[in-house]
Amino acid sequence: MPTTAKRLCNFTESVIREMTRIASQHGAINLSQGFPDADPPPQVIEAAVQAMQQGPHQYAVTWGAPNFRKALAEKQAQWMGLDLHHDEHVVVTCGSTEAMMVALMTVCDPGDKVIIFSPFYENYGADTILSGAKPIFVPLDPTDFNFDPLVLREAFKQKPKALILCNPSNPCGKVFTHEELTLIADLAKEFDTFVITDEVYEHIVYPPHTHCYMAGLPEMFERTISCSSLSKTYNMTGWRLGYIIASAKIIAQARKVHDFLTVGAAAPLQEAATVALQLPQNYYKEMQQSYIRKRDLFLGYLDKANLQYTSPQGAYYVMVDCSGFNARDDVSFCHWMAKEIGVAAVPGSSFFHEPVKHLIRLHFARDEDVLCAAGEKLQRL
Ligand code: GLN
Repeated sequence: MPTTAKRLCNFTESVIREMTRIASQHGAINLSQGFPDADPPPQVIEAAVQAMQQGPHQYAVTWGAPNFRKALAEKQAQWMGLDLHHDEHVVVTCGSTEAMMVALMTVCDPGDKVIIFSPFYENYGADTILSGAKPIFVPLDPTDFNFDPLVLREAFKQKPKALILCNPSNPCGKVFTHEELTLIADLAKEFDTFVITDEVYEHIVYPPHTHCYMAGLPEMFERTISCSSLSKTYNMTGWRLGYIIASAKIIAQARKVHDFLTVGAAAPLQEAATVALQLPQNYYKEMQQSYIRKRDLFLGYLDKANLQYTSPQGAYYVMVDCSGFNARDDVSFCHWMAKEIGVAAVPGSSFFHEPVKHLIRLHFARDEDVLCAAGEKLQRL
């Protein structure tokens, strides 16, 4: 028999989704795979019903339905402080998962190097391998998730083609400061490197922290490929609507990759999601308030159980220290916890390149009653 591709030996199936399977096996409350309990706003669901009845049902324009792209460019221009044109600066993708893959395939030739901060969202490891690139990992300190600027400079000296920046960060909840982003931007300019961002949690930031867009920093628009999606902002992770925002020159190339990978995102859902993109400013304020409440509620339970954790500055994940529990490592701890405590988490080691095995990731995008039930169970730890 012929053998399957060798590059597939270099990564495993998603640990996040494996933990979801384990959660359902044990009937545990699933705080592993991060998606919200909440539904999309009602007017968006209504728009989807209408789109199903009236169409469109056939392919949209490959790089995104014009209505959708217009609404997206308008909304993002406002938030990012950029002058964006829907015909020049946007490609609509099947979730930010495709956006990231397209971004890497757009800029990397086989053998090119890509800087990734560790811990990192597990897709980036697989994405670099699939695009033929080689990761250079720059560690974030596992207590405060800060990086050493000198280590980052050393990584840049290896002449990487791109740096991947997940901000706010999944899994560690770090929100990069303006100062840190400027430092990264200066290195990217000095060493002539692209920055590929993953900003799916751009609207989930806890004051006093604020989200700053890399593409909005001086002279960075030309070398930044901003990837994001509607999944987390409008509670529609299953709609698979993501996008890339970049300069016209980059977008012209990215469109080709996207076209041959997926042709396009679901046409009726793009039509419906246009309504989401036109929601007023207070929608984002209210969503933020609701996540502040969830975070405070859940962290309160962690405090009550005397668990050590790093307080998230953004996104909806918290990394908790499990080293005091006599488990062999984070993986066995997570399996034990799902079975015996009834709460499922993701072993932190699946996000780290370094041998960090004392952290687990819990998400709190659940309804408040679910968070209370999980919080009570955690007291048994
Ligand atoms: N982004 C989510 C997480 O990190 C969901 C991952 C996924 O299943 N695509 O948990």
